[in-house]
Amino acid sequence: MRMYVAGQWVDAEKRIEVLNPYDGSVVDTVPRADLGDVDRALAGAVRGAKTMARLPGYDRYRILKRAADLIEARTEEFARTLTLEEGKSLAESRFEVSRAVQTLTLSGEEAKRLHGETVPLDGAPGGAGKLAFTLRVPCGVVVAITPFNFPLNLVCHKVGPALAAGNAVVLKPAEDTPLSAIKLTEVLLEAGLPADGIACLTGLGEEIGDALTGDRRVRKITFTGSRDVGERICHVAGIKKVTMELGSNSAVIVMPDADLEKVATAVAATGYSNAGQVCISTQRVLTSDRIYGDFLDALTPRVAALTTGNPLDERTKVGPMIKEQEAIRVEEWVQEAAAGGARVITGGQRQGAIYAPTIVADVRPEMRISCDELFGPAVAVTRFESLDEAIALANDSIYGLAAAIFTENLEWAMQFAREVEAGNLMINWGPQWRADLMPYGGLKESGFGKEGPRYAVEEMTELKLVCFHLGTR
Ligand code: NAD
Repeated sequence: MRMYVAGQWVDAEKRIEVLNPYDGSVVDTVPRADLGDVDRALAGAVRGAKTMARLPGYDRYRILKRAADLIEARTEEFARTLTLEEGKSLAESRFEVSRAVQTLTLSGEEAKRLHGETVPLDGAPGGAGKLAFTLRVPCGVVVAITPFNFPLNLVCHKVGPALAAGNAVVLKPAEDTPLSAIKLTEVLLEAGLPADGIACLTGLGEEIGDALTGDRRVRKITFTGSRDVGERICHVAGIKKVTMELGSNSAVIVMPDADLEKVATAVAATGYSNAGQVCISTQRVLTSDRIYGDFLDALTPRVAALTTGNPLDERTKVGPMIKEQEAIRVEEWVQEAAAGGARVITGGQRQGAIYAPTIVADVRPEMRISCDELFGPAVAVTRFESLDEAIALANDSIYGLAAAIFTENLEWAMQFAREVEAGNLMINWGPQWRADLMPYGGLKESGFGKEGPRYAVEEMTELKLVCFHLGTR
């Protein structure tokens, strides 16, 4: 495929191979953008930002709605592309496509309701006779950098609100999974987006990232990805608006009164989907010592039943990780925990890029499988005695994206909600749950700024204050 720069589909001398994570075959190739491409894309986006700012909200709504409809009509094609480039099961890919349709539709709706408010200046000393209101205006050029794990919907969470707010976007999808983003760009143009309203630069983050994020023409950066890359972008960005959606090692607290069948179902669903490569995946299962053994008994058969294999096979529940190297890393972390005294209850085997869904029990908080972001198909089970201890364990992390508790006790649920330091708090389901309309984002080193179209358009706009100095009559 080609990339889209300054209103044209272009190629490059060097190309990047997009590999099928399941068998290593080449799915397609894309251009490897260089610094000249970055410059052209940004120059095009500066022109595009002017065009977009003049486009009425209703027109922006119609483009996004039409794009959503076009994607919905091509669900199977998009789902297959997602599975081929990312390795998630076809069922998960279809679900991602349906969510992308939602995200673009919701974004389109937001294009209709960008508004300011009047400010009662007569409430200020010396404010009599003044009339003020705010105007919400686009930032201008938005750079959107996305990770490999949701190559369509997470791109829509950036591109949708940015366009809804009247910006031009320069999109830099993950190098491993650029195909869905290129297809999305095609669809947006087919839906009537002005030619310079978007650029889609395929390239390596370490080669073109600094040039994109450090450029003064860029007024807003929206990044989803790893903590370390996020930190680098914050250093390079200088003075511009930045949204950071970073990693996590999300905790689930299982209280002694929890319905263990429900907990086991939820952990099996939220710890292993997309081979655990979800930022809000269940990673640490903090379990009351009063039900510890019973919980493991309930969870184990459910995890052992998760079939692995070719994600194009409808029977496969858990596909490969994005790269064999990543599966080797997960294997090492599990082996390290086992060597330190933890018990591998099920799983623990690797075949190429496929790592078997794994439960590790008796994990101590300082083990890497607990304190670092695992981002793989394993959960670490740790016991606790009291809710205070469980909350302290949950908060003993640099991250704070999502957390969950299972209990029937309202007091415990509210203590959890008040005291656990995470942006998304689930009661009686796992942390990996998201509706695309909700405000979504982390605390601490999981980042800052919110996604969800209604919230993201606020991040993608600026507020101006307009003040009329009238007479006092
Ligand atoms: P990554 O940080 O390796 O890459 C993300 C993007 O950053 C890619 O497009 C990459 O090319 C680009 N990049 C790399 N170096 C760069 C640089 N110097 N400047 C600018 N861009 C650069 O992340 P990944 O492996 O693709 O994704 C996994 C990570 O993303 C995990 O940590 C996961 O938790 C996180 N994530 C977070 C959320 C969230 O909503 N909070 C959602 C999904 C994934």
